Amino acid sequence: MDAATADQSVIGMLRGLGRAVILLGPPGAGKGTQAQRIAQRYRLPHLSTGDMFRDHISRDTELGRKAKPLMARGELVPDEIVLGMVEDRIEQPDCTNGFVFDGFPRTLNQADDLERICKQHRFGATIVLHMVVQKDLLMRRLTGRRICLANGHIYNIYERPPKQDGVCDVDGSELIHRQDDTESVIGGRLHAYEQQTQPLVEYYTQRGLLESVDAMAEADAVTECIAKILDGVIASA
Ligand code: ADP
Repeated sequence: MDAATADQSVIGMLRGLGRAVILLGPPGAGKGTQAQRIAQRYRLPHLSTGDMFRDHISRDTELGRKAKPLMARGELVPDEIVLGMVEDRIEQPDCTNGFVFDGFPRTLNQADDLERICKQHRFGATIVLHMVVQKDLLMRRLTGRRICLANGHIYNIYERPPKQDGVCDVDGSELIHRQDDTESVIGGRLHAYEQQTQPLVEYYTQRGLLESVDAMAEADAVTECIAKILDGVIASA
């Protein structure tokens, strides 16, 4: 079988599986970058709760107005707001074969709810990719992060700079510095992660769903590591 045919068959199998793939890790671990790549490789929708909230804020919806001050302080948005938004999204037809979550679940309550929804939709066992990274790397990754306005392509001015300052290599759109990627807010986000999200590592370990990924490695190596895990899960399903 050549590589293209093998890729197609992997995609076919993953489509048939229908399950949630979750990227779990602190802000700056590289969840967004890897989620974009996995989603593309396995042709699954990439669902980022952070992006959903930013979209609501830019459209000035009621939900966006509630989320805005919390996000500006680096605090989590209350579960009941997140859960309604996520459930609506999962009900969309493009999610019937599975999806890649980046930034969700972030609390034990959200994780319980996701499990309930997945059971209800008869999805296969969730795959949780735990992005393991040393804390002192995170500040540099986050303060250096720049995001393309048009399509969310992610750069880092220290580690992965664009060819031209402030311009996306892929689509030429403007690169922006997220308002919560500043040192004062990052401290709050890391605190929220440790207090509210870190317990999910134990939650998913106990359920035998957690796979650890060395997220300190260079981005392509991280993608390869994740692809190996996913291909392994698919092959043994
Ligand atoms: P990061 O993971 O790099 O912190 P995100 O874009 O995922 O960035 O999230 C930005 C902000 O959006 C969070 O700090 C939080 O306020 C809010 N948010 C995103 N996802 C959730 C969630 N699942 N539960 C609660 N708040 C969330």
